[in-house]
Amino acid sequence: MSNMRIAIIGAGMAGLAAGRRLKEAGADALVLERNAQPGGRLASVEVAGALTDAAALYATAREPAFKDFMQSAVFSGHATGWAPKGRSSDEPWLIGLPTMNALSAFCAEGLDLRTGTAAERIGHASEGYIVQTADAGPIGPFDAVIVAIAAPAAGPLLKAHGKPFERIGAVVMRPTLAGVFAFSERLPIDADFIAEAATIGAAARNASRAGRAGEEVWIVHGSADFSAGHFEESDEAVAEKLLEGLGAAAGSGLPAPAERHILRYPQARVETALGEPFLAGGRGRLVACGDWCLGPRLEAAFISGTAAAEAVLSALAA
Ligand SMILES: Cc1cc2nc3c(=O)[nH]c(=O)nc-3n(C[C@H](O)[C@H](O)[C@H](O)COP(=O)(O)OP(=O)(O)OC[C@H]3O[C@@H](n4cnc5c(N)ncnc54)[C@H](O)[C@@H]3O)c2cc1C
Repeated sequence: MSNMRIAIIGAGMAGLAAGRRLKEAGADALVLERNAQPGGRLASVEVAGALTDAAALYATAREPAFKDFMQSAVFSGHATGWAPKGRSSDEPWLIGLPTMNALSAFCAEGLDLRTGTAAERIGHASEGYIVQTADAGPIGPFDAVIVAIAAPAAGPLLKAHGKPFERIGAVVMRPTLAGVFAFSERLPIDADFIAEAATIGAAARNASRAGRAGEEVWIVHGSADFSAGHFEESDEAVAEKLLEGLGAAAGSGLPAPAERHILRYPQARVETALGEPFLAGGRGRLVACGDWCLGPRLEAAFISGTAAAEAVLSALAA
């Protein structure tokens, strides 16, 4: 495999998991990421001087491959458990240290990653695939390409490659509005985690998470319906409504936050997944993956990316 060159478009957990698997197999993989940092939806924001999770709050690990990955992350100090007061599940929850994005940094270790490079088109040349980028012009040729970006963006990028990718159109992803609020005093909320309460999909007290600062910071995600219905409203209006939801959980009004950040994820959560780990065309050399293949979880992204890499390895070995 060492003479095979593979491009991976997108450095979220799916793309990085694909890169990790290809590297294990000795393939030469280049990961192209549009943003300045890898991690995708493992986003964080600086609050009260410290990076704070602003998207995925925790990971669950059910499949052996992801369990192994998370176990290595725990052993190497990149992850730990989180059992917040107020959660109803007994399933182990895992968080990255010091933020969720540590999981992507861990997964990216040793990978050839080019950030600030957005793929615009995937073309063919006689020697293989060429990826046309906005910032660095054409890159390639590659023996195979893995597209590991959210379904609404993957569809247009793969449209020219025909029928195998048409089913991306059936995937539904919904938006999430999130607020991260710092308070100068502890809120009168006993729980450290709140799920599915009125406008809130999930909310977490940051100080309940290992490796985080002790300030009273709450990460609040709007519910799916709330987020869809209020996505275009101003930061002020969204903050007010999310805080009303948090206040309802407190059973009282809340003090005004000392610091406030509103984040908008247009393609946050997979509502209707593909139902298969990846889609493949080009005799198995052009593969699409991401959480949208299997479900709205970090683990789904990892499993999909790993399966996409396996598919490419098989196609190149054939
Ligand atoms: C608010 C929120 C809360 C969540 N909570 C949880 C949770 O608690 N637990 C859980 O398990 N999951 C949660 N999730 C879901 C989880 O974050 C995702 O399932 C997972 O991170 C998706 O990974 P991915 O690699 O499939 O996609 P992404 O993380 O979206 O990665 C795609 C990457 O591709 C890049 N990209 C896009 N277009 C291009 C291009 N043209 N060229 C190059 N790069 C490109 C993007 O910048 C991005 O880095 C949450 C998500 C959100 C938004």
